[in-house]
Amino acid sequence: MEAKLLKIGFQGEKGAYSERAIDVLYNGKEVEKVPFRSSYEVVDALKKEKINFGLLPLENSIIGNITHNYDLLLENKLTIVKEVIIPIHHALIAFAGAKLADIDTIYSHPAALAQCEVFLRRFNHINILPTYDTAGSAKLIAENKLKTIAAIASADAARLYELEVIQNQIEDYPNNQTRFVLLSDQPFQLDYEAYLPYKTTIVFDTLDQPGMLYQCLGIFERYAINLSQLSSRPHKIEPWKYHFFVDFDGHTTQENISSAMDDIKKKTGFLHVFGSYPKYSEKELPISDSPDRLKLRKKKKDGPLYSLTYRSEPTIITVGNKQIGGDHFTIMAGPCSVEGRHQIMETTKIVAENGADFLRGGAFKPRTSPYSFQGLGEEGLRLLKEAGEAYGLPVVSEVMSVENVALVAQYADILQIGARNMQNFVLLQAVGNTRKPVLLKRGMMATTKELLLSAEYILAQGNPDVILCERGIRTFETATRNTLDISAIPVLKEQTHLPVIVDPSHAVGINRFIEPVSKAAVAVGADGLIIEVHFNPATALSDAEQALDERQFKHLVQSIQSMLTVK
Ligand code: PEP
Ligand code: MN
Repeated sequence: MEAKLLKIGFQGEKGAYSERAIDVLYNGKEVEKVPFRSSYEVVDALKKEKINFGLLPLENSIIGNITHNYDLLLENKLTIVKEVIIPIHHALIAFAGAKLADIDTIYSHPAALAQCEVFLRRFNHINILPTYDTAGSAKLIAENKLKTIAAIASADAARLYELEVIQNQIEDYPNNQTRFVLLSDQPFQLDYEAYLPYKTTIVFDTLDQPGMLYQCLGIFERYAINLSQLSSRPHKIEPWKYHFFVDFDGHTTQENISSAMDDIKKKTGFLHVFGSYPKYSEKELPISDSPDRLKLRKKKKDGPLYSLTYRSEPTIITVGNKQIGGDHFTIMAGPCSVEGRHQIMETTKIVAENGADFLRGGAFKPRTSPYSFQGLGEEGLRLLKEAGEAYGLPVVSEVMSVENVALVAQYADILQIGARNMQNFVLLQAVGNTRKPVLLKRGMMATTKELLLSAEYILAQGNPDVILCERGIRTFETATRNTLDISAIPVLKEQTHLPVIVDPSHAVGINRFIEPVSKAAVAVGADGLIIEVHFNPATALSDAEQALDERQFKHLVQSIQSMLTVK
């Protein structure tokens, strides 16, 4: 039996840009492309189940939103299943043999006319007439042998209707692109594949009170959600009231996003989610062709994202001119906490002049007692960044809560997740949604397997840059602060491509043991160290007993450097 082809409706005639967008979306896979005169008719056919999906343009890079389609999306509560972005190059085309001088009228879709506005200014003697479609205009000229009329359409449409191109690439900006969405009128979800970057589109109304839009947008900031588009459409029924459409990165199944949606719902009169769909990328996988159970083609099952079966090459993370992983041995050093300008400047000078690649320093501190010094917050981040910049060192700082991810990411080059937060899954997802590398410390009661699964949370959000850190675990031994699980390094290395570094400071908690333990880390193949240093350890406001002074840090770096050159 012949397989039934998937029917995709689009607005326009054969040769329209929407038809090309379907080809790109389906990557050459055969589908039945069904033309309709208007977007409304595409939606109507969807509702009457004459087609499986409809494809409509939503935005163009020159003229902005295709507002009518936004309205249709809302009026019909359609579901966005996928998006596709294609380059749009317009041509002026006419009947074979026609010269520009013969032309008295130009036909095209209003959106195409608007994208060629500068080009068209030249022809003030020519009538410019909007029509229902670019390719449709070409078709009209061909069928009726209209020799004094030209169309703005694609060069493909010219070929299809056997017309000639008078001038190519007449769009006002050469990098012209249009974003189309594939729509369903049913609630529809592609099988969720955690490793794809996703995008979500929603619409909400705000109550007519001061600061409401500001408060709604603040919710996105609080949950570290990256917005990519914000537009408004008139409410229509109530003049001067608006619907706000928002696109943002991520999937509604993510905890931070579902919490944000709950908060927005509470704040607004109305919220509707059009869907979470894979963010368009040119390298994207095609959709399978089963009309009744459409889903993304599964990538070959090749294990979790942290695993060596998923990726056999070591992950190398680049930050400025520094690299972590592979053949690089990275030293991160600095105080436990940023305590003030003088302290951070003096300490940074010591670590920078003695071989550190990164400056560490906490601004939000997870202290066991609520009465201990909690860190300087944003002021600490500012000072840390200033010191890092003064001495040419990128900076690492801990983020303790979802609300502060955006803030810490503004200042830090690497986001640290502390041992106590290793299984704070919402926080892991939030840092997974940033583009900053994440230094993930092993929980003091966590197995190496649990550490890897926490890394998976970050990787699954599309952030590939995770550094694992062994920092000692709780055992019955009390002679040291924790017990450095030195075997964790080879154990992890056997299972993951991610870089693994060691924090000897929190592992042993006593400054005289830090150098020997660091040497052990080098010997077992760690990719780096993170060490606490203070210009005057006796005065340190946190972890004073484990802070190295200048002499001790210098000695440590020299002794591990000699091991590394031998290696
Ligand atoms: C730190 O590095 O400052 C820190 C608090 O470490 P951990 O989370 O490993 O205790
Ligand atoms: Mn510390």
